Amino acid sequence: MKTFNYHSAKDVKEASKLASPNSAFLAGGMTTLPSMKLGLASYKDIIDIKKIKKLSGIKVSAKTVTIGATTKHVEVANSKEIKKVIPSLAALAEGIGDPQVRNRGTIGGSIANNDPAADYPSACIALNAMIITNNRKVIADKFFRGMFETCLKKTEVIEAIEFEIPQKSNYQKLPNPASRYAVVGVYVAKHKSGINVAVTGAKSCVYNDSDISDALKKNFSASAIDNVKVSSSGMNSDIHASADYRANMVKVFAKKAVEAC
Ligand SMILES: Cc1cc2nc3c(=O)[nH]c(=O)nc-3n(C[C@H](O)[C@H](O)[C@H](O)COP(=O)(O)OP(=O)(O)OC[C@H]3O[C@@H](n4cnc5c(N)ncnc54)[C@H](O)[C@@H]3O)c2cc1C
Repeated sequence: MKTFNYHSAKDVKEASKLASPNSAFLAGGMTTLPSMKLGLASYKDIIDIKKIKKLSGIKVSAKTVTIGATTKHVEVANSKEIKKVIPSLAALAEGIGDPQVRNRGTIGGSIANNDPAADYPSACIALNAMIITNNRKVIADKFFRGMFETCLKKTEVIEAIEFEIPQKSNYQKLPNPASRYAVVGVYVAKHKSGINVAVTGAKSCVYNDSDISDALKKNFSASAIDNVKVSSSGMNSDIHASADYRANMVKVFAKKAVEAC
């Protein structure tokens, strides 16, 4: 590992001020530290944001659930309030990685990293999430840009994620048996305003499958998905699954999610 300067920021303003194109924020460190150890990434400055109290915690209102950026996966998984209003979100967090990862990894780190196989990006799209940073609010559809790419600027700190409480929702994934990352994951959410079918793991970036959501708008049942054609064009193909297999799994896991709603 190369040498770097370690900073523990006292507040968001200081964290943002310390940031540069050669820095990384340290939240759970579950991506940043292994990447540095393996020589895949190196930084001049590591800015620890874990001590900033404002960034952690869960607030539930009548219409929304707001989760602070450094809130750990285990806290979301165990939250009685989240289990009550969006049980699928708590279940998603419970299915991330292993106990070690869930006790260190954070929701802000997960969405900032935007791994194509990560679980939380699908929740953000399905639950019409608003990403709140130190200088703006961005709707999830505009936040995730591509493989490991978001609209975040280098000095921008995610402060919280605000999820809309749906009428019904469910998340189902085919987990990689080693890491638990999604080979394919589908998050279905029915809101008063419409239906979202967010897919992760299948392509280079999370996306909303409008063909499946259109079919579900006419008839919210698993059988409505039978006649939807999911193309394998643009889907990932790797040692875990071919593009054709992933396309089929999108349908299979969308049906499972609707059945479980
Ligand atoms: C073995 C293993 C298995 C895993 N399995 C899964 C899985 O099944 N599903 C899944 O979804 N994920 C999985 N993960 C990912 C993990 O859950 C974390 O969410 C992820 O590693 C990033 O979160 P972190 O808090 O550790 O971020 P860090 O590693 O601390 O940071 C990652 C990146 O995010 C940036 N960042 C962090 N916080 C902020 C912020 N508040 N504002 C702006 N930028 C920020 C940092 O600058 C850095 O670039 C796994 C990881 C490991 C190591």
